[in-house]
Amino acid sequence: MNFYCYRCRTSLPAGARFCSNCGAVVVATVPPQGRPLVRPIIGRQIAGVWIGLAQANGWDVSIVRIVAVVGFFFTGGLVAVGYLAGWIGIPEEPITAPGVYPPPRV
Ligand SMILES: [Zn+2]
Repeated sequence: MNFYCYRCRTSLPAGARFCSNCGAVVVATVPPQGRPLVRPIIGRQIAGVWIGLAQANGWDVSIVRIVAVVGFFFTGGLVAVGYLAGWIGIPEEPITAPGVYPPPRV
C-alpha cells in the first residue's frame, strides 16, 4: 500500500517515517496490519495467543477474546485445545534491546 506525503504529495513506500522529498515527518494514519503471527510480550493476558492472532489479522483483540470465551463453552473446551496449540506453535515475539537504531520493522 502506497501513501503520500501530506505536504508535497510525494509517493512514499510503506513504513516510511520521513518524506524523501521534503523531509516532513510522515504520520501513519492506518494501523499496521499483516504483522507476522507472533505472541507479543506486551498486552498478553496468559500466553498472548489471542492478541497475536488479532494483530496478525487486524482484528480487535477484545472481540477475539470474547469470541474465544464464548466459543470455549459452546465447543466443550475445543477452544482451550486450540489455545494450547497456539501457545506451543506460535513463536514468541523477539525481544529487541532498547536503543537499537534503526528500529526493526515489525
Ligand atoms: Zn514531502
